[in-house]
Amino acid sequence: MTTSVESPAVQPVRETFPSLNPANGAEIARYPVDGEPEVADAVARARKGAEWWAALTAGERKRRLGAWAATITRDRRALCELVHEENGKPRDDAFLEVLLALEQLTWAASHAGRVLRRRRVAGSLAMMNQAATVEYHPLGVVGVIGPWNYPVFTPMGSIAYALAAGNAVVFKPSEFTTASGVFLADSFARANPDADTGVFQVVTGFGATGAALCSARVDKVAFTGSSATGRKVMAACAQNLTPVLMECGGKDALIVAEGADVKAAADGALWGALANAGQTCVGIERVYVVKGLEDAFIDAIREGAAELKTGADAEDRVYGPMTMPGQIDVVRRHIEDAIAKGATAVVGGVDSVKPPFIDPVVLVDAPEDSAAVCEETFGPTITVRTVADADEAVRLANATEYGLSASVYAGSARRGAEIARRLRTGMASVNAVIAFAGVPGLPFGGVGESGFGRTHGEDGLKEFARAQSVTRKRFSAPLDPTTFRRSPATMKVLDRYVTLRFGRK
Ligand code: NAD
Repeated sequence: MTTSVESPAVQPVRETFPSLNPANGAEIARYPVDGEPEVADAVARARKGAEWWAALTAGERKRRLGAWAATITRDRRALCELVHEENGKPRDDAFLEVLLALEQLTWAASHAGRVLRRRRVAGSLAMMNQAATVEYHPLGVVGVIGPWNYPVFTPMGSIAYALAAGNAVVFKPSEFTTASGVFLADSFARANPDADTGVFQVVTGFGATGAALCSARVDKVAFTGSSATGRKVMAACAQNLTPVLMECGGKDALIVAEGADVKAAADGALWGALANAGQTCVGIERVYVVKGLEDAFIDAIREGAAELKTGADAEDRVYGPMTMPGQIDVVRRHIEDAIAKGATAVVGGVDSVKPPFIDPVVLVDAPEDSAAVCEETFGPTITVRTVADADEAVRLANATEYGLSASVYAGSARRGAEIARRLRTGMASVNAVIAFAGVPGLPFGGVGESGFGRTHGEDGLKEFARAQSVTRKRFSAPLDPTTFRRSPATMKVLDRYVTLRFGRK
């Protein structure tokens, strides 16, 4: 278990790994590689922490999570600097990420009491003598495995909701952004110095540390990462029937439908595709534009992209380096494959790949079976295809195994919403991009290869709770079929009841 870089080492010699600045390779901090014993210890501590935390009232948990939000707010510049250094995104983007994470934390803390408290449920005629209630209890210990692209906002979607629902959390941050993850646990401890130390802990390391967490008999694993790793997480969790929440990859489309404000759509497409160097699970990777609007749209994209600069530090750079060196080859392969199959690069091209940076690339008419259209690129590229109408746009947008989110630009917001409802995704924005992520009351998650289960909103709280249904007998019913002493007359009355209740049209 690691709560700070300076933790005194009580072990003999532990293997360690560095967190590196992707722009220049500089070492930011070094952390122990936690193995099965360390993870098991953390989970054992979390069991005690979970008991302590669950015994608090929802109001007390709200106060403590509020204190955590205030601590993060006070120390936000240090956290933003860490996110900037570890992930490579500009400081302003790091700030926006922290802001959104604080929105989620505060929403979860404020609404958990109301959403999860015991409530009455209407009875049925057959059970009219029973009072029925449902209540949402904590699961116990939740393991959270996070990615590096939004190292604060993304795991916070699980951590805040799991804690607000009364669980303890053991968090395994991505090996690329460990310092940001450790910062979160340290700030929780600073905000709640009297809390049991098992309530929120971090374990550090690579995939094997995450795998150890999956096998540690926690009560749920909330995983965010690639679909390929998601499969491994599910397989490991299956051994103990540990339930899982899967937030995986995406191949999100933006549709430019009839009457759309083409300039606004191009502006949204560029930001949705390029922000954070395109390393956004809900980033725009494909555009389908209806015939007649394509020239104006591509002109606007060209014009917008021409102004954009990439790089590490200067404040006028809109995004930074690729965080994970291995992803650069994937992006290069997608560009090369699309061009070889007949796509035209109207912005950038293969030469845009200048590791660790990649300048914007816009590919027009990449075939629908090319890697740039089919696979998650996770880089600052976008494909654009002209379609006959919105129907074709919907068909092509849905022609993917992924189903995370989408964007629709249309002449009227109403028409946009009509199109959005036909998309097989967990989320959509009309005349905007990624707006749903900023509304904490809205559930966040996907379908198909993009995963299942939801963070954020009421669904996000219930994801980390166990519904318990309780009936209380209020009086002895004149007809009681649940006894061996029931009479033939009781069954006769019930038979008539079935006809009256369900048999008439
Ligand atoms: P990744 O799958 O490589 O790693 C995610 C996490 O899993 C890391 O902490 C890693 O150490 C851990 N891990 C690796 N192997 C493991 C194993 N066998 N068992 C348990 N844990 C293991 O993903 P990444 O590269 O960090 O993140 C990028 C991916 O995440 C993209 O596909 C992106 O779309 C997706 N993502 C999805 C969402 C969402 O909410 N749907 C949000 C952000 C990112």
